[in-house]
Amino acid sequence: MVCAYVNMTSLNKIELRKIGKEKILVTIKNIEKDEVLFNFERKFLDHPIKTSLQVDEGLHQISSDPESIENFLNHSCEPNGYIDFQDLTFRALRNIKMGEELTFNYLTTEWDMANKFDCECLSKYCFKKIKGFKYLTFIQKSRLSPLLSPFLKNKLILEKKRINAEA
Ligand SMILES: [Zn+2]
Repeated sequence: MVCAYVNMTSLNKIELRKIGKEKILVTIKNIEKDEVLFNFERKFLDHPIKTSLQVDEGLHQISSDPESIENFLNHSCEPNGYIDFQDLTFRALRNIKMGEELTFNYLTTEWDMANKFDCECLSKYCFKKIKGFKYLTFIQKSRLSPLLSPFLKNKLILEKKRINAEA
């Protein structure tokens, strides 16, 4: 028997849409701030890959199905979603209108990305080079503070302590 991974939470809220060669996640109803959009599968690797999500040092969430929706969550420097690490869910950062693409900021979870790229999101806050949190300046890191994963928040606290000790 083939055991397909079905994400119940996402039903009737989002769909995968093909735009040219790209696939994006789009809302198919209006979503309220903090509403859960989907759950991440609880499967992990000890190293990052293109579609993984960093949970902790040497702990990277992946999905068993390459077509799973969580693999098509694109990056934005001004995202409309965030990851709740308490229950490993993707939630709305603000009210989201039907038809909007779902995005999150990869720099709020990834320390050193397997798949680095240049961002062209056109946000005035664009980070341009998306390589991982470790490559940002202290000011850039601090700006992301409210949205950081517990793992990266701790990295930032340690860096702050080191800077204070040197001062
Ligand atoms: Zn950007």
